[in-house]
Amino acid sequence: MKNVSNDTVIKGTAVVSGVRYAKAVWISPRPELPQAGAVIEESQREAEQLRFTSAADAVAQRLKERSEKAEGAASEVLKATAGMVNDRGWRKAVQKGIKGGHPADYAVVAATTKFVTMFEAAGGVMAERTTDLRDIRDRVIAELRGEQEPGLPEVDEQVVLFADDLSPADTAALNTEYFVGLVTELGGPTSHTAIIARQLNVPCIVAVGEKVHKITAGEPVMVDGALGTVTLGADPDTARAAEQESKMLAERIAQWRGPAQTKDGHKVQLLANVQDGKAARIAATQSQAEGIGLFRTELCFLTATEEPSVSEQAEVYKKVLEQFPTSKVVVRSLDAGSDKPVPFASMADEMNPALGVRGLRVARANEALLTRQLDAVAQAAEELGRGDDAPTWVMAPMVATAREAKWFAGLCAERGLTAGAMIEVPAASLMADKLMPHLDFVSIGTNDLTQYTMAADRMSPQLAYLTDPWQPAVLRLIEHTCKEGKKYNTAVGVCGEAAADPLLACVLTGLGVNSLSAASTAIAGVGAQLASVDLDTCKRAAAAALDAEGATEARAAVRNVIQPA
Ligand code: PEP
Ligand code: MG
Repeated sequence: MKNVSNDTVIKGTAVVSGVRYAKAVWISPRPELPQAGAVIEESQREAEQLRFTSAADAVAQRLKERSEKAEGAASEVLKATAGMVNDRGWRKAVQKGIKGGHPADYAVVAATTKFVTMFEAAGGVMAERTTDLRDIRDRVIAELRGEQEPGLPEVDEQVVLFADDLSPADTAALNTEYFVGLVTELGGPTSHTAIIARQLNVPCIVAVGEKVHKITAGEPVMVDGALGTVTLGADPDTARAAEQESKMLAERIAQWRGPAQTKDGHKVQLLANVQDGKAARIAATQSQAEGIGLFRTELCFLTATEEPSVSEQAEVYKKVLEQFPTSKVVVRSLDAGSDKPVPFASMADEMNPALGVRGLRVARANEALLTRQLDAVAQAAEELGRGDDAPTWVMAPMVATAREAKWFAGLCAERGLTAGAMIEVPAASLMADKLMPHLDFVSIGTNDLTQYTMAADRMSPQLAYLTDPWQPAVLRLIEHTCKEGKKYNTAVGVCGEAAADPLLACVLTGLGVNSLSAASTAIAGVGAQLASVDLDTCKRAAAAALDAEGATEARAAVRNVIQPA
């Protein structure tokens, strides 16, 4: 992009690539929150309770209707948000406040604050959960007052949407015909907003910081989702040319057909990350995915208060497996805990949930929970008649030791399942030579591997510069894992968000990764990029990234070796 003299460039974290030039709009304001103090007459309290119930019901119903219209992760997010409005604990707390004399809007604020404080005190379990809570608070307050629902504004032209933070519900309801770009002050590269933006394939930049407020509604802006830049005052001709070029690249990507290989024929299996049957159907019918590289099973059960039976689970898993009847599907055992609390499997109140009992660790105290899940996967595969032509692999999240790998592999072997482990704890990478003899494959989870290598919370917008998979420290662990994988003849895949970045995908290929699993919408971009380079160039790019001082330098060094497709 050529800069013109009087422009201003604001930088954030790049999430979804693409250049767009359009007017900025800001998300509709949140309602002003009521202050404490007002008391309502005892005789009116019952009516006030009914008024709250009907406002909350209306909000829940709207979210439910949107969830039914949406697909994949978007639908799940909306469903989960609707579930929070219906949460009995939260509603009870509001009703209690009204019974004590608070007006409904203040009772909503007080109850929500109580829950937000609880979530945060529990160790900052999940930034998005508190964003969700505040979001439902604001929607219910607006409904109580008969005001416009906060969130997405009504627009009739293409715009770039700006927000402090997008609630998952807002992101999920985006109409991408009009909202052609997304920029947020907060958020991180692996937050729900980023994951959904990737699914919708809307150019997106997060964690821009307070400087995003320099942008006023109605101003034309140029957003470059690959560089993570927002340009104010860009020369319109230059901006339109850059947008055109990016659209042409998007077209080349749309024409790309798999299976993926480099220019000189080195094959890299491209697989999809999914969380349910719907997403698997989209991967099978609308992408070039050769199979599924990560089925996040815990996302099927985020609202389940009781563990589903083996047969119930098997039905859920079959919906995913049946979309790829003749290719590989990698099912991940429950990654409950930390940012993905599964009510029937998560630990309550931990000081540091991200470092606590999550993933495979949950099963140490409750092996039957894991074996019932493995039984369900085996049952699903058997009922669908899957054999060697349609391998069903199972992997455990958060494996840290060889002993854990051996234990998990043994349970899988008893059920005839092919066993693997995620490499997302640095110890697992460093000890790969001890883990691999027990396993058939490993899959590197770069989201957590980056979080734990850099000691930086993946949900923290302030730390987005550290939670960047381009960090050479992370790449060095991946290099080490690949070297050991070669020695032990163990397949090494990557299934974190790093696999969705076309240039980083070349680096990973150069490091020796055999398969890449990403959101379906990212697959063609990665495939088209790989098709434009040879393996030797990937190796040179990998060497340049490994040798860089930091993430920014690694990106720049690789851009010197490889031009974006
Ligand atoms: C990862 O950590 O990279 C990963 C793929 O798992 P999740 O994002 O579900 O934690
Ligand atoms: Mg992980």
